[in-house]
Amino acid sequence: MEIDDIIARHKWESEEAAKNGPVDVEFAVRQIQELIGFARYMELKRNEAFELINSLLKEDESLNMLRELSNYLKERFPNSRDAPGHSHVVDGRWDNDGSECAYCSLWKRINQKLLNT
Ligand SMILES: [Zn+2]
Repeated sequence: MEIDDIIARHKWESEEAAKNGPVDVEFAVRQIQELIGFARYMELKRNEAFELINSLLKEDESLNMLRELSNYLKERFPNSRDAPGHSHVVDGRWDNDGSECAYCSLWKRINQKLLNT
């Protein structure tokens, strides 16, 4: 199954689930899509990424799914101040030109959102 099919199926299921209560489906799906993009960019093993995503898609609620992913990554990269796998001299800024790292920025936004949810 292609990743786009998985996302589309999960989006539909989440929308159905959202009819029973307030779930920020669009937010969660968008963040997950971005994370998948970064996972590809970082050349993580494709099968490992799919396995992780598939296990997360079994969760009922998108934000809980995102929270689990966040916790998993924090466990896996316990010493990272920046996003998992990144280590900048200045938090969230590229060392060469000081510009904002989009990956670390996304990581920060996800964790802020989860704290407030
Ligand atoms: Zn970074």
